[in-house]
Amino acid sequence: MSELFPRLNWRATRRLLRTGMRVPAGPGVQRETAEVLASLGLVTLEYRRYIRCVHATDEDYWQVTDRNCPGEIEIDDEGPYDCPECGRTIDHPTVHKEVFRDLTTTVQQDGVAEYLYRALQAVETVTKVEPLGYVAVRVTLSDGRSVMLPIVDYAGPGWQAEGADARTSYLYVIASPVNRPAPEYLERAYHKELADILANDKAWLASVLDAVARPRRTAFIGYSPSDAAFVDRLAEDLVANGVGVWLDRWEIKVGDSITDRIREGLLESDYLLVVLSPDSVDSLWLREELNVAGMRQLESQQVVVLPVLYRDCRIPPLLRDKQYADFRGDSYKQGVQDLLAVLAPSAEAALPTPIFWGQRPPRSA
Ligand SMILES: [Zn+2]
Repeated sequence: MSELFPRLNWRATRRLLRTGMRVPAGPGVQRETAEVLASLGLVTLEYRRYIRCVHATDEDYWQVTDRNCPGEIEIDDEGPYDCPECGRTIDHPTVHKEVFRDLTTTVQQDGVAEYLYRALQAVETVTKVEPLGYVAVRVTLSDGRSVMLPIVDYAGPGWQAEGADARTSYLYVIASPVNRPAPEYLERAYHKELADILANDKAWLASVLDAVARPRRTAFIGYSPSDAAFVDRLAEDLVANGVGVWLDRWEIKVGDSITDRIREGLLESDYLLVVLSPDSVDSLWLREELNVAGMRQLESQQVVVLPVLYRDCRIPPLLRDKQYADFRGDSYKQGVQDLLAVLAPSAEAALPTPIFWGQRPPRSA
């Protein structure tokens, strides 16, 4: 556990960074956490003494005309003070009234960027860290992959890199989710709260970076069990070439509802590869998935359907006008190349926008 990853109370850290602001100034876990965050340069602290215009245990309680006055008056000497809400004058506040203390914390943009910069440099699998202003950090991993970490609060959910950076993977870091973007933006992107990064160690951060940098195009393969041997080979070749593959056999555990898991698998996939053979076109699953309603739903989920013609068969009507990869006879190698041209184009080819909202966070992280 290095200086960068102190043993922070995760709950207090998260709450402090989230709702920031005012915490009790007295001893306790919140104040201790605030002080650690301040020592790391992530927040600034401001102690405040104040009285409440109306407070039941104060000597002047029964003299206050407006007992609903919400006024709070910051004090630094013996007064008198005027209530900013109701305007009444309060004499000798520290003698006759209860004095409250609190601590205001403010998240510091430059501090967060610098902290991230140092935390990432400490990770063994990271070879290069470049700050991009105070809104993002570009990280190069030792195997050459790179990950971009925009800080959501400052970069905004719409922030996108340009040029070469546009082809890297993304991990959004949420520093102080006071300005948290709508959940629908974040639930489909890789994101971590700064509190998570603070509360964990370097190995955790390394595994998060690795997960984010993994290939992000995932193909769900729909097939008939009688074509399983072909599908095994195809799946292995795709994985070897950096395509994420969702195979029911790999992903469905005993006890899972098969239909639910297939739906979930399709939601997490960019492509649906339909392996066409006389056995598969007659299967119930294919007929249900590739009817008009099923196709419309796949389209709305931005799942691209790619027919894979494995054996001669009657091609379902809705797939007839689609370009297919031909695996019949001796054309396996060509078929794989045609698929890879779509699923794993070279770095020069145009990739989708850097943060593709159709993606889900990695399940393991
Ligand atoms: Zn008042």
